[in-house]
Amino acid sequence: MGSQEVSSTVDWQGKHVTVAGLGVSGIPAARALHERGALVTVVNDGDDERARAQAAELEALGITVRLGDGATLPPSTELVVTAPGWQPDKPLFLAAAEAGVPVWGDVELAWRLRGTGGREPAPWLAVTGTNGKTTTVRMLASILEAAGLRTAAVGNIGVSLLDAVLGETEYDVLAVELSSYQLHWAPSLRAHSAAVLNLAPDHLDWHGSMAAYAADKGRVYEGNTVACVYNAADPATEDLVREADVEEGCRAIGFTLGAPGPSQLGVVDGILVDRAFVANRQKQAQELAEVTDVNPPAPHNIANALAAAALARAFGVEPAAVRDGLRAFRPDAHRIEHVADIGEVAYVDDSKATNTHATEASLAAYDSIVWIAGGLAKGATFDELVTGAAKRLRGVVLIGADRALIREALTRHAPEVPVVDLDRTDTGAMSEAVARAAELARPGDTVLLAPACASMDMFTNYNKRGEAFADAVRARADESA
Ligand code: ADP
Repeated sequence: MGSQEVSSTVDWQGKHVTVAGLGVSGIPAARALHERGALVTVVNDGDDERARAQAAELEALGITVRLGDGATLPPSTELVVTAPGWQPDKPLFLAAAEAGVPVWGDVELAWRLRGTGGREPAPWLAVTGTNGKTTTVRMLASILEAAGLRTAAVGNIGVSLLDAVLGETEYDVLAVELSSYQLHWAPSLRAHSAAVLNLAPDHLDWHGSMAAYAADKGRVYEGNTVACVYNAADPATEDLVREADVEEGCRAIGFTLGAPGPSQLGVVDGILVDRAFVANRQKQAQELAEVTDVNPPAPHNIANALAAAALARAFGVEPAAVRDGLRAFRPDAHRIEHVADIGEVAYVDDSKATNTHATEASLAAYDSIVWIAGGLAKGATFDELVTGAAKRLRGVVLIGADRALIREALTRHAPEVPVVDLDRTDTGAMSEAVARAAELARPGDTVLLAPACASMDMFTNYNKRGEAFADAVRARADESA
């Protein structure tokens, strides 16, 4: 199977396919390939109760499952389909490379299988980046819906890509969120248009280096037909456009929070404007929406809205639908979510800010902040983050395993800011953090949970951390009512 072949020409009958990983992408992949006549073997590292139950279901269909050994390549394998998170240096992939066997991720499989039901395949508008992917894809889907198009936000969120391309529902266009892992394993993906929102170090343990991480993100531009959308404030994203091999006529479109140049979208006097998809981009600018149409109108979120608008405009969507779609958009939970005002203090949950790049954006959105931070640092350093925010910090409450790292950065760069160091990780810890933050806050301040860290030292995930914060805030709001 050459990597350029499309699936309709792949004869799956009798093909030996190894699916790596029982999980959200592995199980539907195994089923879809089995239904097409492939001889599927699923290999999985784990061998726990859950894996056995899932294996039993697949085996009942006639699929072979090998639990407890995800390392060895079954000898007759002609293709490996992997879960995106599997590290590229795993022995299974080394064996595949040695045997000349191609490896596809879930996105590649969906890309190859689209249109096999006899329907015209829907074009993909793809979004990647270190932060803001989910938000941008949801904004994009909202805009496409407002334009009357049949669409869905798919990929790393909501509907799985495989379900979207093989399910009953027909789509005119898909808004696709792609992670760097998924892009790594998607060699032949060709989006209609794509955006890289920003690039900051993340997941470097997986990719091996910043260059490898950037190269995988940059794959999203390969073969674009209409527009490669980049962030004018983040030159690394523009570099990726320059390096990409695109279809003839495909344009580079920038977005900026300042006034847009030709072939850019930007902001002028509180208005989102388009100087890219207009008849005369030297002289003309098209109004799309007002900054206040963006929820919430924080700077990084306006950047997300501009990226979504650029992709929608590349697809031919009218300006009014951009405005209506942005107005209809509601952010997902725990992303700069306003929980309550108590006294004259706002309480905002940005538990999803799990790295310093995301936290930098949310700290930039408020003037005077009591910042709740800490958790698992994942190798990050905090000097830059603290230096940038120092002037806006009323106080800081630190929680979690690696809080000393943030404390040290605060001592170095913001020694005058009061810091409460909470040495507890029990279920009451977040409540105390909120109480201590409330003591530090003055009228007009924002108490902001934007931890810059992963949550797993104290919580199951960032959702639970955000819920703990919101519960504590609401309990205080009830008391003060
Ligand atoms: P992703 O899907 O890439 O993780 P989300 O939309 O879920 O992105 O947002 C994750 C976090 O990143 C949020 O907490 C938010 O504060 C922050 N964020 C969102 N958009 C941006 C952006 N454009 N630049 C920097 N940080 C952002």
